[in-house]
Amino acid sequence: MSKALICPCEDVTVGDIRHAISRGFCDVESVKRFTGFGTGICQGKSCQAAVAAMLAKEGPLKPQGIQAFTPRPPLYPTEMSLFASMPVDESQPPVGGVPQELATFPAALRPQSPLPSKAKIVIIGGGVMGLALAYNLSLRGETDVVVLERGYLCAGASGRNGGGVRMQWGTSANIELAKRSIDLMKQFARDLGINVWLRQGGYLFLAKTESVAKRLERNTALHNKHGVPTRIITADAARDIVPGLTMKGVVTASFNPEDGVIFPWPFLWGYAQHCLKKGIKVETFTHVTGFETSGGQVRKVRTDRGDIACDTVVLAAGAWSPEIAQLADVKLPNEPHRHEILSTEPLKPFLGPLVSVLDSGLYFSQSMRGEIVGGMGDPKEPAGLNMGSTLRFVARFSQALMEQLPQVGHVKVLRQWAGCYDVTPDNNPVLGRTPGLDNLLQMSGFVGHGFMMAPAVAERMAAWMATGEHDDLFHRFNLHRFSSGRLEREDMIIG
Ligand SMILES: Cc1cc2nc3c(=O)[nH]c(=O)nc-3n(C[C@H](O)[C@H](O)[C@H](O)COP(=O)(O)OP(=O)(O)OC[C@H]3O[C@@H](n4cnc5c(N)ncnc54)[C@H](O)[C@@H]3O)c2cc1C
Repeated sequence: MSKALICPCEDVTVGDIRHAISRGFCDVESVKRFTGFGTGICQGKSCQAAVAAMLAKEGPLKPQGIQAFTPRPPLYPTEMSLFASMPVDESQPPVGGVPQELATFPAALRPQSPLPSKAKIVIIGGGVMGLALAYNLSLRGETDVVVLERGYLCAGASGRNGGGVRMQWGTSANIELAKRSIDLMKQFARDLGINVWLRQGGYLFLAKTESVAKRLERNTALHNKHGVPTRIITADAARDIVPGLTMKGVVTASFNPEDGVIFPWPFLWGYAQHCLKKGIKVETFTHVTGFETSGGQVRKVRTDRGDIACDTVVLAAGAWSPEIAQLADVKLPNEPHRHEILSTEPLKPFLGPLVSVLDSGLYFSQSMRGEIVGGMGDPKEPAGLNMGSTLRFVARFSQALMEQLPQVGHVKVLRQWAGCYDVTPDNNPVLGRTPGLDNLLQMSGFVGHGFMMAPAVAERMAAWMATGEHDDLFHRFNLHRFSSGRLEREDMIIG
């Protein structure tokens, strides 16, 4: 295996690129995510061309398929204090964003092999939900499954999130799901042979207003009932956990030491790799374009590579789910909302928990690579499938972060990106059967917390699908509830 460095920032070798190709990652975006090349301080300026040349020479793609990865602002590593000094007009919505992500991927990336003409189960969406479900179905012996993904693995929210995993929720259902997911994450390396970099440094929630403080207090009592050791703490106790926090304007805080952060990308590789070993097909660069329906059933899923006849279809396409459901004349109440996020240069470990100001939606944590990773919702963000990055976000984020942690002003932002939250009216998912199209199963609407819910939800969904036994989850969170008004609001949403 060649140890010659191809990406000096991230220590990625020629051998690592060959390993990625041997695993089937042959386009530049996938190889970036699988190896980490191009994510360091030079943002691919010194290595992308060399990797592309290797892929063109040694990979199976035609030259037209070797496309540069989406560039991430800022152009140069830039100190947060500079961004924080920029004026922001909070009365106006954010405008635009660069660069726009691809709505469709080049035909040259489409696999050359034929798509299966039928499968028992077709899963639409190769994000964490779809892949976790396919994995769990395989554990139950169900391998006649095809996962359809329009882009590369990690193209959707699952490859763009903050990696936060927490048990601090406002409803019993979500607390129990998150507890189970975190237990599963702890054994992920053993089960799937891949390191997901779980670090249980806790979640520290800060409240700036009395109403949010009351919410933290009420929910802390609920957590304790479920055996989650959340506690309300003083400002001094919060500063003991995160030295240097100003706690400016903060009236109370809650802390659960068992919450944590993970690195999202390996989950997708781990699930996908296991599925492939079991004979499940994971078809990337395959766009679902429609359905053939008759007699209250979906008969076929149409794609840009042909049709697949199937017994069951699962719609797990995250923020794209409403537009895909529409192709079968099904109306979902979900709305996509852009959420922006950034990552800084790596620092020595200094930040234990993920810290979030619940009132403003600011959150930040330190990854195992040492970067500060953080985001902040924008109340003015309009609904839409927009994944561009704005200067406004990085300015608002830097201001809010420096209010609580002024010493990070000199830290440089390396890259920013965006993804879409898949927002439902009550902040809870859409699960189970579709009224009127019985074999179309829904698995979307996870707002900004689907990553941490996926292992547990997929485990239960596979059991429900395989055994047909009643599981309250798929009735309680059914699409029905929006027409019958039985909403169950989750109030611990960041952003
Ligand atoms: C900035 C940000 C931060 C977040 N932070 C956290 C966090 O800290 N913790 C947490 O738990 N969650 C977080 N989330 C939410 C989490 O990422 C999502 O809830 C989760 O990844 C949703 O997974 P999914 O599989 O449902 O959707 P996705 O990962 O979006 O997957 C859906 C897939 O469907 C594919 N698709 C779309 N249309 C088609 C089509 N026509 N044909 C075939 N495929 C199609 C897409 O390409 C996509 O890959 C965050 C989200 C964002 C955007």
